[in-house]
Amino acid sequence: MSAALPLRPELRGVQPYGAPQLDVPVQLNVNENPYGPSQRVVDDIATAVAGVAGELNRYPDREVSLLRSDLAGYLGHGLDRSRVWAANGSNEVMQQLLQAFGGPGHTALSFAPTYSMYPEYARGTSTRWVTAPRSNSFQVDLDEALDAIGRERPEVVFMASPNNPTGTAVDIDTLKAVCDAAPGVVVVDEAYAEFRRPGTPSALALLDDYPHLAVTRTMSKAFALAGGRVGYVASSPEVIDALRVVRLPYHLSAVTQAVARVALAHSGELLARVDELRAQRDVTVSWLRERGLTAADSDANFVLFGTFVDRHAVWQGLLDRGVLIRETGPEGWLRVSIGTTDQMDAFRQALVAVLEEEK
Ligand SMILES: *Cc1c(COP(=O)(O)O)cnc(C)c1O
Repeated sequence: MSAALPLRPELRGVQPYGAPQLDVPVQLNVNENPYGPSQRVVDDIATAVAGVAGELNRYPDREVSLLRSDLAGYLGHGLDRSRVWAANGSNEVMQQLLQAFGGPGHTALSFAPTYSMYPEYARGTSTRWVTAPRSNSFQVDLDEALDAIGRERPEVVFMASPNNPTGTAVDIDTLKAVCDAAPGVVVVDEAYAEFRRPGTPSALALLDDYPHLAVTRTMSKAFALAGGRVGYVASSPEVIDALRVVRLPYHLSAVTQAVARVALAHSGELLARVDELRAQRDVTVSWLRERGLTAADSDANFVLFGTFVDRHAVWQGLLDRGVLIRETGPEGWLRVSIGTTDQMDAFRQALVAVLEEEK
């Protein structure tokens, strides 16, 4: 980048964020749902898009009214449109949360290791970014969390539950204690909520008690709609109204709104594969442990495992065998997304071969 451009100093030398998008047979690196939509869903999406195509000369519904109502219906918990907001992926929702509640002089706190996009939203909105450490088993350590909240007085707390890249869910008592202590907005990022194990409650159950709680969800993972770019948040009307102030006008295209509504209407079918993916996840955790590796408990559609002296060599060895996973998380760990049974077979075979070679 030319030195003459007035680039913000914090952006100098920074590379664009993102995992490598490589064309390999087995892609298990960005936690997508491996199953595409059925022909029936594809046909309904095509019909819905055709339905709005004739009106694309007009701007879309700025308030995203119908989709927000549908999303509220999907979430339940007595929510309605005034308490739900949608945007281009939950990434945009969280950026809007920081546009509204972060900014110069404001602080955002999270618990590391966690989602690598959070500091990027903070940088983009000039929000001060701080982290407190998770425990050795990647739980949010309540004492550490309360200490950090007391010390930093953050305007925004981000808690991913289940967390990426570790797969760890936050227990409900910890969520409550953080909501009780936090002076600002508490964002619980439930991108992987549909994959959590039985008995793990959602933070949605706490919304009525905490108007400063915002629970974000996405259609990118369980809903198998990563290409559609739809994320959403449930909170109080006050928080939603703040997001309506910072959003760009017409931020969610008419096509996106139509596609998302069709996907929601087919939620039963699209979510049907979730049980299968959860079962594969549990099988993968057990298999890794039987091989003598460490695998973090996971409530998501991926598993963090290790530990390797040279994790890059293991990642590269898998890639050489056509299996792309993610080099992320604490030093020595790798993350594999849960794919189809065939893809997981390919992963296991490749990993066995790589570890044999390493010996
Ligand atoms: C994948 C993911 C998201 C979702 O991002 P979208 O923008 O909705 O695709 C959000 N949070 C975490 C922790 C994720 O891993």
